Amino acid sequence: MENKTPNTSIECSVKQCQNHCGDKDYCALNTVRIATHEPNPTVCQCVDCESFVKKTSETNA
Ligand code: SF4
Repeated sequence: MENKTPNTSIECSVKQCQNHCGDKDYCALNTVRIATHEPNPTVCQCVDCESFVKKTSETNA
């Protein structure tokens, strides 16, 4: 059973991330690192959460 505490200062809808709170669209971390993979970012798609960790699900439901 996961028991994560949502950080209501960090909204996130990336349910595939290990740090996501599942039924609540928040991150469970205290802080996250945001960065860009572009030399000159112009739109939000250029920006990434570098704290993302791929969820390893025991049940593949
Ligand atoms: S680490 Fe980043 S991608 Fe993962 S839940 Fe938190 S904010 Fe979302």
